Amino acid sequence: LPLIEVVDLHKVYGELHALNGISEKIYPGEVVVVIGPSGSGKSTFLRSLNLLEVPDKGQVLFEGVDITDKKVNIDAHRQRMGMVFQHFNLFPHKTILENITLGPIKLKGLSKEEAEKQGLDLLRRVGLEDKATTYPAKLSGGQKQRIAIVRALAMEPDVMLFDEPTSALDPEMVGEVLELMKELAREGMTMAVVTHEIGFAKEVATRVIFMDEGQIKEQGEPEGFFGSPK
Ligand code: ADP
Ligand code: ADP
Repeated sequence: LPLIEVVDLHKVYGELHALNGISEKIYPGEVVVVIGPSGSGKSTFLRSLNLLEVPDKGQVLFEGVDITDKKVNIDAHRQRMGMVFQHFNLFPHKTILENITLGPIKLKGLSKEEAEKQGLDLLRRVGLEDKATTYPAKLSGGQKQRIAIVRALAMEPDVMLFDEPTSALDPEMVGEVLELMKELAREGMTMAVVTHEIGFAKEVATRVIFMDEGQIKEQGEPEGFFGSPK
């Protein structure tokens, strides 16, 4: 069973067909990298997987359940999809540890103690445990993005969605974020990643999707797109 299946997705902004009939399946353990020119609909596609963008037409099935159905509790499903944005989207007035524990406390019903223990374990994992009581503004872009990733992981998602996670970073910080993403891929995390990082795609994608003008024009293994591995 696919983890996520979309059927004939359409999204229209005025005259613009941002998504023009996308059908696609993502299976557990896949690392799907979405590439294509700016404005081709990559972000809209990714954001429609967890209904951050609601399609004008078409279905999104999560483990076989049509989450576009108004009767379905979308929040319960959305919680199982971790999302990482280009601009981090950390809560500026909460500490790093609070950023991480908020979701598990509010949405998973963890006690503060449980959530903090888990949060500190995650911070240790990315070597940022000394930042627990710091505020986001004090962190570098690379640190912020690694926090955004572990914040998503704290919800124990079934899939991670990454929307250009390194595009807003200074070049010297791209590596530390890609390394963490590669580690997740190696651990078998199901991932959909919009990125321009071709090296990352070559190394960890199980499948590359090429979008243009709101459609999937081509897809296959990275070798087919970029030539043989490094
Ligand atoms: P990509 O991620 O490939 O750069 P996007 O999915 O962000 O492309 O956007 C696809 C197209 O839809 C672009 O032309 C973009 O300007 C347009 N678009 C995206 N979101 C909106 C919106 N909220 N309102 C109007 N146009 C939008
Ligand atoms: P990001 O790349 O971080 O996703 P974007 O600039 O693509 O940021 O989009 C940020 C927000 O602006 C999204 O909600 C998107 O739907 C909206 N947006 C993108 N393009 C347009 C557009 N041409 N007109 C109006 N809103 C847009």
